[in-house]
Amino acid sequence: MIAVLRIGHRIGRDKRITTHVALVARAFGADTIFITTKDEKIKKNIQSVCKRFGGDFQVETGLDPKKIIKSWKGTIVHLTMYGAELEKAVDHIDTDRDLLIIVGAGKVPPYFYEIADINISVGNQPHSEVAALALFLDRYTKAAWQRKDFHGNIQIIPCIKGKKVLSKGTT
Ligand code: SAM
Repeated sequence: MIAVLRIGHRIGRDKRITTHVALVARAFGADTIFITTKDEKIKKNIQSVCKRFGGDFQVETGLDPKKIIKSWKGTIVHLTMYGAELEKAVDHIDTDRDLLIIVGAGKVPPYFYEIADINISVGNQPHSEVAALALFLDRYTKAAWQRKDFHGNIQIIPCIKGKKVLSKGTT
């Protein structure tokens, strides 16, 4: 089980970024996202993607991050530009345990740096939680996300030009 904990989401301001964090989480191998701020719109958007493109990705919003962390039985990773280097740190994560990946929005309180089993950096430049999560999940899953079949109603067939889309019910 891989879960993403999105902390500090500001309604309105972070709407698109948090949606992208959730989409990346879903596409790159996570099972669920916990968004600490209550935001039904984002939940509905992501559920609509799941309905069309498949998979069993779960979205929960309006949760107390400390409660999630306290009840979490697996490993906790926090993505931050101050953390240990991704390439070295990723091999120290026990893949047999559940994994909670924390990503921030604005300034991240010290509590999250302290509670994490490992703070991991994706390079030491400031960039984006979307990029950090994508690269982290790619390395952590050893790119296994590419082989996942979502069994969606809509399936895209890769092609060099144009768009090839299979919709359930069509031949
Ligand atoms: N100013 C914030 C702070 O002091 O923590 C960081 C804001 S940054 C736009 C939002 C999130 O992106 C961070 O909380 C972190 O999860 C992620 N992030 C940004 N750059 C990163 C990097 N180089 N490595 C890992 N995560 C990064």
